[in-house]
Amino acid sequence: MSKHLLQAEKDPMGAAITDYFKNRKAGRLRVFSSQFDEDEIPVQHLFRTFKEMSPLERKALDLAGGHILDVGAGSGCHSLALKEMGKESLAIDISPLAVEVMKERGLNAQQTDLFDEHFCGQFDTILMLMNGSGIVGKLSRFPEFFQRIKRLLAPGGCVLLDSSDLKYLYEDEDGSYVIDIAGDYYGEVDFRMQYKQVKGDAFDWLYVDFDTLSLYASQFGFKVEKVMEGEHYDYLAKLSLM
Ligand code: SAH
Repeated sequence: MSKHLLQAEKDPMGAAITDYFKNRKAGRLRVFSSQFDEDEIPVQHLFRTFKEMSPLERKALDLAGGHILDVGAGSGCHSLALKEMGKESLAIDISPLAVEVMKERGLNAQQTDLFDEHFCGQFDTILMLMNGSGIVGKLSRFPEFFQRIKRLLAPGGCVLLDSSDLKYLYEDEDGSYVIDIAGDYYGEVDFRMQYKQVKGDAFDWLYVDFDTLSLYASQFGFKVEKVMEGEHYDYLAKLSLM
């Protein structure tokens, strides 16, 4: 059984979400990576309202229907917007603190790892937003991912997922790309987060370009449609069974 839930002592994003929820302000949610310079996630961004969301996210919420699963729901911003639209969702996250906040916000939330085989249900829409492919971690985990969503999709259901093509990070001055094709896939990233004194463990986070996603999806019986392109190498994809 592959099941991975966070402990509150190692849940920096959850701690930041709790702080912001209680005090309407929060400290710095710091992000470290072996591939990039130190960065920050503005905690307020995790609480964005429908109006503050990108066109791509709003499109996903518009398309979502029936019994909806909000995967890696964070503060619950998408589920809250869905609720205001009269749509019902189940929000899941591995973060105990985020799930607690979502419950306090009146959402139907539970602490669950998408990859936990004991988690079942039949969903018409599975929403995975804010680089939804991140949760997959690495390309090698796609078989497990597609098996999982096959089990969770109701007949005729779909996954709405956003991601971006990180190739722009490797663009040379002359416009060509410097990518080591013998190395790991360039969208495979590792992150570690810290909020105040709370440090999380490192985790793998996958950014996947549309063609690579389509290639893997087709091997597992899924067709992929590009619903929309964003402003910076990002896109919203719709996955459904062929
Ligand atoms: N969708 C939210 C939050 C994105 S951050 C938003 O757009 O604001 C990604 C979230 O995914 C984090 O809250 C993290 O705890 C959660 N997560 C990571 N791996 C997960 C898994 N295997 N199953 C469920 N949630 C997961």
